[in-house]
Amino acid sequence: MTHSPSDVLHIIGGGMAGSEAAWQAAQAGIPVVIHEMRPQVETFAHRTGNLAEMVCSNSFRSDDSEQNAVGLLHWEMRAAGGLIMQTADRHRLPAGGALAVDRDPFSEEVTATLRAHPLVTVEEGEISELPAEGHWIIATGPLTSGALAEAIRAETGAESLAFFDAIAPIVYADSIDMDTAWMQSRYDKGETEEEQKAYLNCPMTKDQYEAFIDALLAADKTEFHEGETAGYFDGCLPIEVMAERGRETLRHGPMKPVGLTNAHKPDEKAWAVVQLRRDNKLGTLYNIVGFQTKMKYGAQTEVFRMIPGLENASFARLGGIHRNTFLNSPTLLDGEMRLRSRPNIRFAGQITGVEGYVESAAMGLLAGRLAVAEITGKTLPPVPAETAMGALVTHITGGAEAKTFQPMNVNFGLFPPVEGLKGGRRGRKDRYKAYTDRAKSLWTDWLQSTVTGAEASPAE
Ligand SMILES: Cc1cc2nc3c(=O)[nH]c(=O)nc-3n(C[C@H](O)[C@H](O)[C@H](O)COP(=O)(O)OP(=O)(O)OC[C@H]3O[C@@H](n4cnc5c(N)ncnc54)[C@H](O)[C@@H]3O)c2cc1C
Repeated sequence: MTHSPSDVLHIIGGGMAGSEAAWQAAQAGIPVVIHEMRPQVETFAHRTGNLAEMVCSNSFRSDDSEQNAVGLLHWEMRAAGGLIMQTADRHRLPAGGALAVDRDPFSEEVTATLRAHPLVTVEEGEISELPAEGHWIIATGPLTSGALAEAIRAETGAESLAFFDAIAPIVYADSIDMDTAWMQSRYDKGETEEEQKAYLNCPMTKDQYEAFIDALLAADKTEFHEGETAGYFDGCLPIEVMAERGRETLRHGPMKPVGLTNAHKPDEKAWAVVQLRRDNKLGTLYNIVGFQTKMKYGAQTEVFRMIPGLENASFARLGGIHRNTFLNSPTLLDGEMRLRSRPNIRFAGQITGVEGYVESAAMGLLAGRLAVAEITGKTLPPVPAETAMGALVTHITGGAEAKTFQPMNVNFGLFPPVEGLKGGRRGRKDRYKAYTDRAKSLWTDWLQSTVTGAEASPAE
């Protein structure tokens, strides 16, 4: 079969996302050029010139596709013939229920497989401009080169491309004790009742506040990676750094108790109040406002469960601050991951505001398939939001709150609830099984429908 130049898919960045996107497209018969800047241009985290290099831990996290959302994503990617998953499976290391990977043979094999594919070309060199025409996927990751990042910023506006994340912990709404917490916006601000009750408030007495500050100061913290310039700007200091500046700082900052009345004990004035804000349209996730942190994960759960109302909190994700180039995808990308202002460009991977090797590869898989459909004139049905893949892409392209958008791991809080099941901790096992059964069935149907995808109408 001969291909015209306009059929070629160009992918910038041969990391987790770019490699998977290239594989999906090439396997579907589309010629692909991967533009990868390494080894000519290096990043502070990568060590080799290999594609799909794992820059830090060697874990793809839980492989449990029945009870864990990332395990479900593994399952969906395997079902779609994903290169990253099949190569990871071949280089699996013993790690209990997790999928740990022998990193060097893994990335060497991904590189060799792609280079050997008759439809894949790897061109070494940095791309520093946004392409004006042709089919492109930008998958340049958290360490996108400076020149390309500037070009993206010039297109999207400075507010829409971040260079550091500042992730506050996110709590599952159904794990918050509403006999202690209450819903109210400070000074009841807002036109509608929904706005006046937009925040979830957790009150603290003086003793509880003092113990909380002690715990924050004593907690184990992580350091920035070597070469990763510390990215604190005053608007988003880690809470423990705020606490180090003075024991009262938090009480005059994110934990100030003013403008709030405890709905359960109206006569008791709280010494401090922790506020949580809705994090997704479904209302299943809440983030702890202003609580970005460099505390270690174990310390975070211990310290945050000291907050009244969060004693039994389950965390959809814990906080962090990292060097991370990412877009405000909910405003910039359409549902097919295209840049609204330049639809010939899709984005994939961590730069879209997902977090992690697996999530990045998953968004590459989807972007690759969507690009193939476009090039071959097919229309794919939307990916069901009840699948892990669909929940993630729906979140980043619209389900998340755009104003406070921060990178997200896949988690069950992103899934539309299954009706009629018991909430809370007790019902969790059955609930997760229902989510994953539903997802597997819908993902299988979706994959099947993409084989027979309808031809695009001439108007499209
Ligand atoms: C220091 C650090 C540690 C991390 N640790 C973990 C971890 O332990 N576990 C985890 O799950 N996730 C981790 N992540 C997050 C993230 O999941 C990984 O970075 C993941 O590799 C992202 O996949 P990606 O394909 O989006 O980007 P990458 O895998 O980084 O791939 C992007 C590729 O684009 C290339 N590139 C960049 N700019 C250009 C350009 N202008 N032209 C051509 N090529 C370009 C890069 O060289 C790179 O190969 C970490 C991130 C960082 C920065």
